[in-house]
Amino acid sequence: MNNPQINQVDRYAVIGNPIAHSKSPFIHEAFAKQTNQQISYERVLAPLDGFDATVQNLITQGYKGANVTVPFKLEAFAMCDNLSERAHAAGAVNTLIFENNKISGDNTDGAGLVNDIKHNLAHALQGARILLLGAGGAAQGVLLPLISAQAASIVIANRSLEKAHFMAQKFAIQNSICNITVSTFENLQNQFDVIINATSIGLSDSVLPIPNTIFAKNCLAYDMMYGRETPFMQQAKANGAQVADGLGMLVEQAAEAFYLWRGVRPQTAPVINMLRAL
Ligand code: NDP
Repeated sequence: MNNPQINQVDRYAVIGNPIAHSKSPFIHEAFAKQTNQQISYERVLAPLDGFDATVQNLITQGYKGANVTVPFKLEAFAMCDNLSERAHAAGAVNTLIFENNKISGDNTDGAGLVNDIKHNLAHALQGARILLLGAGGAAQGVLLPLISAQAASIVIANRSLEKAHFMAQKFAIQNSICNITVSTFENLQNQFDVIINATSIGLSDSVLPIPNTIFAKNCLAYDMMYGRETPFMQQAKANGAQVADGLGMLVEQAAEAFYLWRGVRPQTAPVINMLRAL
């Protein structure tokens, strides 16, 4: 902590519990090298009941900002002095900026997903019929950016239907520009151009009870999880869909955070390629 070399650079961190698996230090170090920015970036394990104290400790040490991951995104939202519009919409914060004794919060997950789909996967969102599977923090974080990308319609399907209803109601004001409805998994009937799995079911080998008929021709099936082919991805592939995992989203949301902190946009493709090669 008192290494004088580290003190010469702007310091950032990712806070989570657990945190050892996080790829964020690798990603931000690659961005910094690419854009000639002098920063350090490290993993910080916060005790489950000690998120606020951990953040205050980083501020005292002169850190400029932090990323926040599971399970602290809601606590990060609650502790901010200022929130961006997308953080408000998401109800969760994954990027903190420490400036002038204030904490500002943003949520870059949705922008990360949209950038990955539009730019890396070259799949159109404008006019698309989108199915969003899940109504947890990640699903809530991507809804406004998907509406802003001019999707034609969005169906939110979730195991607990009341959570999907709650989410749809929260965004009801957007219904004039994008038709938002809800469904159970089993009752899905129409076909979709883009299907996003924002559930955490991929952590297990369980299968979502979604019909095989929902994958439109040239459908993109996107699983926010990364690191392995999930049963959702296997089902989508078997039904002719283009399939992607969430690694691109991870790098894109990091690039958006890097831009907020440093004012420069790193190139994401080389970093995605490096991570895939690992
Ligand atoms: P949450 O815990 O907030 O939400 C979990 C969601 O999964 C809920 O909708 C929940 O449904 C659903 N779910 C969990 N288990 C099952 C099951 N057995 N059957 C059906 N549905 C289930 O998690 P997050 O929203 O934060 O994260 C969701 C996923 O997105 C994770 O895999 C995470 O790793 C990934 N993610 C990836 C990112 C990236 O950059 N690539 C960024 C953020 C998240 P219910 O409401 O009924 O409980």
